[in-house]
Amino acid sequence: MNPLNEKIEALGKGLGAAQVGFADLSGLPDGLNLGYPGAVSVVVRLSKGILAQMDDAPTATYFSHYRIVNRLIDEITLRVALALEEGGAMAVAVPASQSLPSVKGENPYRGLFAHKTAAVIAGMGWIGKSALFIHRDYGPAVRLGTVLTDAPLDIVAAPGKSECGSCQACVNP
Ligand code: SF4
Repeated sequence: MNPLNEKIEALGKGLGAAQVGFADLSGLPDGLNLGYPGAVSVVVRLSKGILAQMDDAPTATYFSHYRIVNRLIDEITLRVALALEEGGAMAVAVPASQSLPSVKGENPYRGLFAHKTAAVIAGMGWIGKSALFIHRDYGPAVRLGTVLTDAPLDIVAAPGKSECGSCQACVNP
C-alpha cells in the first residue's frame, strides 16, 4: 500500500475509526466533489448496547451517543485533513452532521457532501433500500466522515455493490 494511505489509515484507526477507505471522486458529476479528485472515508461504529435499548424510536441516550460519535468523527477527519495538508495537499474535513441553509428545490437537510457517496465508492458498503449506508461488516450501525482531498492517495477499492438481494425488511417491515 502507498505509504501515505498506510499513514492515514493508521491515524484514523488509532483515533477510533473502525475502517478507513479511499475513494476516487473524479467520476462524480460537476460540482458534487467540490473540485477534489479524492476522499478519505471514515467509518465509526455505533454502540451495540445503546442501539439495543431502542424499540421504535431513538432514546435520549441514543441522541447523546449520536452527538458524541459525531464529535469523534469530526476529530478524526480534522486530524486526517491536517496530516494530509502537512504533506502538501489540500484537504477539507466535511462536518459529520451539518445542515446548510436551504436552497429552493433542494433537500433542506443537505450537507456539504454526502458521506455515503465516498464510503460506497471506497468499497466499504452500499446504499440499502432504506437509503441508508450499509457497511459490509457492521450493517447500518455506523456513522461516516469524509475528508475531501487532492493528496496522492492510491485508490484500489471497487465501489461497493448492493447485497440487499431480495430482502425487503426495511421497505416492508
Ligand atoms: S433491503 Fe434488507 S439488506 Fe437492504 S438495507 Fe433494507 S434491511 Fe438491509
